[in-house]
Amino acid sequence: MATAATAIDTDFIREAVLAADLDAVRIALYHNSRDEAVGALPPLARMSEADKALLVDKAVDWLTHNASDAELPEPPEPDLRQLMTMVTGREMTDIEFEARRDLAAFRPFPCAAEWQGEKPEIPEGFRVAIIGSGPAGIVAGVQMELLGIPYVLLERQGEAGGTWTINRYPDVRVDTPSITYEYSFEKLYAWTEHFNRGEAVREYLQHVSRKYGVMANSRFNHDVKGAVFDEARDVWALDVATPEGAQTIEANVVITACGTFANAQLPDIDGVGSFEGRIVHPSAWPQDLDLTGKRVAVIGNGSTGVQLLSAVAQKAAHVSVVQRTPQWISPREKYGAPIEPGVAWLYANLPGYWNWSRYTATAGLFEIHNLQRVDRDWQAQGGKVSKANDDLRAFLTDYIRKETGGREDLIAKLIPDYAPMSRRPVVDNGWYRALTRDNVDLLAGSVARFTKEGFVMADGTVCEADVVITATGFDVLKYLWPARYQGLDGQDLHETWDAGDGPRAYLSLMMPGFPNFFMLYGPNSQPLTGGTGLPQWWLIWASYAAQCTMRMLQDGKSRVDVKPEAFYRYNNELDDEAQNWLQMTAEGGIEKNYYVNREHRRLQVNAPWLSPDYHRMCTVVDWDDLEMS
Ligand SMILES: Cc1cc2nc3c(=O)[nH]c(=O)nc-3n(C[C@H](O)[C@H](O)[C@H](O)COP(=O)(O)OP(=O)(O)OC[C@H]3O[C@@H](n4cnc5c(N)ncnc54)[C@H](O)[C@@H]3O)c2cc1C
Repeated sequence: MATAATAIDTDFIREAVLAADLDAVRIALYHNSRDEAVGALPPLARMSEADKALLVDKAVDWLTHNASDAELPEPPEPDLRQLMTMVTGREMTDIEFEARRDLAAFRPFPCAAEWQGEKPEIPEGFRVAIIGSGPAGIVAGVQMELLGIPYVLLERQGEAGGTWTINRYPDVRVDTPSITYEYSFEKLYAWTEHFNRGEAVREYLQHVSRKYGVMANSRFNHDVKGAVFDEARDVWALDVATPEGAQTIEANVVITACGTFANAQLPDIDGVGSFEGRIVHPSAWPQDLDLTGKRVAVIGNGSTGVQLLSAVAQKAAHVSVVQRTPQWISPREKYGAPIEPGVAWLYANLPGYWNWSRYTATAGLFEIHNLQRVDRDWQAQGGKVSKANDDLRAFLTDYIRKETGGREDLIAKLIPDYAPMSRRPVVDNGWYRALTRDNVDLLAGSVARFTKEGFVMADGTVCEADVVITATGFDVLKYLWPARYQGLDGQDLHETWDAGDGPRAYLSLMMPGFPNFFMLYGPNSQPLTGGTGLPQWWLIWASYAAQCTMRMLQDGKSRVDVKPEAFYRYNNELDDEAQNWLQMTAEGGIEKNYYVNREHRRLQVNAPWLSPDYHRMCTVVDWDDLEMS
């Protein structure tokens, strides 16, 4: 439907285009107009000033006459491929096209499992139990709604939202663009900031849960303590703590969506019990905590510690920041900024602009693996890791210098001795600048012991504090903890993992001997090379579990398990592949990396595959690897 665009002032439109993502404007404009002069423009990074001026003029002119709130359908495949190629200027392989085509989200439910042919009759009483109401559990619920498979979602918290319900510390927000932290089936949400606050993400997730019927099938304050597989009936019996007391809930299939960041890592430091002040983990932030005029210590400089420091420092009388290991902390364009009225107008009135903005926001990560490989030839010439990685190191080192105003005392402590891109990138939220405030000190090193008044650092520095914020992260090796799952022959999931070399899975999703059991965001799940964003993965993993469930129903089977040989083959290949990555090298700081299971020196959190390869593995089920009975 055309809107009264002519009534819109062209100055406003020009301002909107100038504030916009010009690459997304370029593709959306070409998508709509097929203007060859626009089609011939290079990606923004290579555009001259004259190219930019031409693009802006063309966009303003087109919008003045054609602005519309129409939603574009997905273009035919060759067109789509051409438009996608225009973003990067690089041809894609077929497997890359397959993995990326849905980033632009023209199709609402890409990768979602659908019944082929007639839906089979679902046996009386058949149901799926989903554990966890974070973004993964909600999408698993949506997938079951689409298929009409009965399910119940069990959540230990009092409301939906997962991470975004649990973490309510100052200035909590996404550090990946909101437009990419959005489900493809519920798009164009009225975000107000480019990187939204936790509260807004929580509201979005609750809105999705309500709208798609998941909320109605959710039971809150239901904490799954464990589950036992009844081999005689092929049914899981879940032991659930509820406000009404312990309950047993039965399900034919269990999908765990418990999150990787469910168990806070609390510092186990001598004397911690003797401290008379308050110790606060960000994931249990007391909403009545008033830091005004307090002496505060923040232990940790990971994503959370960095995100909250500025806000804390503006309130507290004094803040001591404890940094055990320096981090590479990088700026993000428009981080903390509101969405400009012009850009909001473009989302609504330049058809395809939202889609292509989402695509371009992710496209920057397509080649990220080039930053994560060690180039031995480059090293032989005196380089540290590779040209690309060393260039990034130089850029980030300059950034530290600039943000600290050249304070050599700080700079010496802040520059890491390992390569960037080997840990999760930490986004700067004014952290370096906060360190230059009069009321903030940086303490480099480890806390040796707590005292009544505060703590003592390993180098003897004494720090007195009223409140200690332990931004020490999460115990990411404790998958599905503390619930216990008992599969075939009475084997316990955690004991099985402990007897080996830590948590493992087939495709991150399944464990042999634990039939009808799927883990979303399980061991070795987070794609190392990015490129598609987690919301896409939640749907892919949920659809894998759904495809297995559908096959059981279609074939009249009651059990699906991964074959042990497929599990071992997959994990051997995974270990081999992991060796190629920076994370697993001394240059990548293997000893300090939470992606790595340091006890067993193996990659733990990430899938080491290139994103398109992993996408193929998870979307095209290899039935030969599974056994059904
Ligand atoms: C502070 C923070 C910021 C993040 N920011 C980003 C970001 O900007 N971009 C990005 O891509 N990723 C980010 N992540 C990572 C990831 O996107 C989120 O953690 C995301 O919420 C994970 O979704 P999930 O559904 O898998 O798990 P969660 O959101 O953790 O939800 C799991 C749910 O399961 C429930 N649960 C667990 N065990 C049980 C049980 N036994 N019984 C009942 N319920 C149970 C929990 O209470 C929780 O509600 C962030 C993570 C954290 C911790």
